[in-house]
Amino acid sequence: TDRADLKVLNIPKPPDNRSDGTTGFEDLDKKELKLDFLRSLFSRTLGLSPGEKVLDELSLEGVASYIQSGKCKNVICMVGAGISTSAGIPDFRSPGTGLYANLQHYNLPYPEAIFQIDYFKKHPEPFFALARELYPGQFKPTLCHYFIRMLKDKGILKRCYSQNIDTLERVAGLEGEDLIEAHGTFHTSHCVSQFCSKEYSMAWMKDKIFSEVIPKCDACNSLVKPGQFSLRTALHCCFYVSDFPNCDLLIIMGTSLQVQPFASLVSRVPKNCPRVLINMEKTGQASFAAGLLGFGGGLDFDSDGAYRDVVYLSTCDDGCMALADLLGWKAELEELVKREHAAIDSKDASKKDATANQSSECSDKSSPGPEARKSDYQ
Ligand SMILES: [Zn+2]
Repeated sequence: TDRADLKVLNIPKPPDNRSDGTTGFEDLDKKELKLDFLRSLFSRTLGLSPGEKVLDELSLEGVASYIQSGKCKNVICMVGAGISTSAGIPDFRSPGTGLYANLQHYNLPYPEAIFQIDYFKKHPEPFFALARELYPGQFKPTLCHYFIRMLKDKGILKRCYSQNIDTLERVAGLEGEDLIEAHGTFHTSHCVSQFCSKEYSMAWMKDKIFSEVIPKCDACNSLVKPGQFSLRTALHCCFYVSDFPNCDLLIIMGTSLQVQPFASLVSRVPKNCPRVLINMEKTGQASFAAGLLGFGGGLDFDSDGAYRDVVYLSTCDDGCMALADLLGWKAELEELVKREHAAIDSKDASKKDATANQSSECSDKSSPGPEARKSDYQ
């Protein structure tokens, strides 16, 4: 009924012919006044400005028509592990997966500790165990990754903030300043000592990761970690400062919004900026108990005052496909996925061919002939 009330307030129906001679609008005016009073009371007391309603309706349809209106030019995506699960990358937070079981051995205080630098400095092993499992180049981006790429191609992606270390956003075609990888990227690694910060290459790190050696700086013997670009750095850099206050639409996908300071970013967009959550469950809602998102900062899908947040409970791929469909982008998105996946497959096949040829040239006489090998890749 709360939603219905709000709808009535925004789109007044023609008044009924009432027996008492009133139009029904009087009641609306009273309600509106009451809400206005509350809004201004809250904004004065808490220093919040009342939110202006941008979406026609709090649904994926509302989001689609907002994007189509042309007023939505700066989209920020915030993504987490959930966007990569359909690529075959297990969410290390999900019980029942091999990865989760592997990480159990390390007795993490809580799963996200694996990404926190203070924890890493004391216990680097679980991070590198995870890195070994998720090392770039073994998986294909998902439909959701390509949806983000489409936002870029359409010229409305401001930036994608990712919590993932699988680099699938890059594989899908985001590059350079399109992307901020909150937990670092494998592209460069750095010594964690702030007095040293020596840089190491991807090849150097890959060698350490797969030889199961904890990487240490050869200059100062501190740990070396993939990714110098921590979100903490980003928080103080120009991107963050200009991105969030100028955001027109925040799309949050596949993240439980549990890791700070990442989670708090949802509250940094303007008060009238619509925020869409595409996820298997609701998350990021304001909670006094958690205190993480702070009052006025958390997502609000259901309260009386909900005015800009939309939740679509589904897999990230399904949610993106539904949104693409509403936008008339469905065929284009399917075509993009097909084309890109085919390109990755053919690259993989030629790489495997090269490796196979190499090994047969070297020593492996017992390996199957070229015909048999070819069939392995089909
Ligand atoms: Zn060092």
